[in-house]
Amino acid sequence: EIVKIGKDVENFSLGDRVVATHHVPCNNCEYCQRGQHSLCHSIHNTKYYPGGFSEFVRLPAVNLAKGGVLKIPDSVSYDDASFVEPLGCVVRGLRELDFKPSRSILVLGSGLSGQLVIRNAKAYGAGKIIATDLNDYRLDFAKKSGADLVIDAKQDDVIKKVLAETDGQGVDYVVITAGAKILFEQAMQTVKNGGKVLLYGIMAPGTIIDFDIFPFWQKQVQLLSTYAAAPIDLREALELIRAKRVAVTDLITHRLGLVETGKGFELTANAADSMKVIINPQK
Ligand SMILES: [Zn+2]
Repeated sequence: EIVKIGKDVENFSLGDRVVATHHVPCNNCEYCQRGQHSLCHSIHNTKYYPGGFSEFVRLPAVNLAKGGVLKIPDSVSYDDASFVEPLGCVVRGLRELDFKPSRSILVLGSGLSGQLVIRNAKAYGAGKIIATDLNDYRLDFAKKSGADLVIDAKQDDVIKKVLAETDGQGVDYVVITAGAKILFEQAMQTVKNGGKVLLYGIMAPGTIIDFDIFPFWQKQVQLLSTYAAAPIDLREALELIRAKRVAVTDLITHRLGLVETGKGFELTANAADSMKVIINPQK
């Protein structure tokens, strides 16, 4: 909620409920003009003060001027609006894939990002949706999110299962949402001829992966990456939430106060029985 306002601010008023991103593109550089906003110098350097986990934040003028602050419709709760950024990243990722209805998708990793990919793909009219994880809690969530098949990567051979499920053809899209090296191998072996692999979550810097380049060439696979979300993605995410095309409320497993922020990070890092952990800065 806006509780104090600068004298030159237009289009926003005291009491407005807003969602704000620190990632603001300039909209003028070569990358922005090509639609590659997340490569913009500005998006990597904008911020708000003193930072995200604080009771109040001050938003610089550029954040307002370049579309980095969106008004939250009355029907959308603050909790649901907290998904605008993570869902915005997914919206951008699916745009990078040029996602088409009826196509099959494999989501490797069923953490919060994986769940949002499943839900967004379903909202976009995906065909078969397959999800994997090592954790039962997350696999159950993936089913709830709309996966047609979940694969327990602890005990099942992901590659064999996906190929069996797709008549040996593989899937149109693979989205890697976690940082394990083995997922890259799984993606390359389960993507269909002419399919696309999206690096959504990423492995640590310095990670070297050997893979057979010949089938990659022969299958005409496209390997893509995505990063962050631009205002257009946030806008689309907010509308998907408002219109209830992508349900988000049931993904919230914990609501903590500001003093419990450390615990929130622990829950998320443990990747066990939690999904979306919300920090309420006024508690
Ligand atoms: Zn730019």
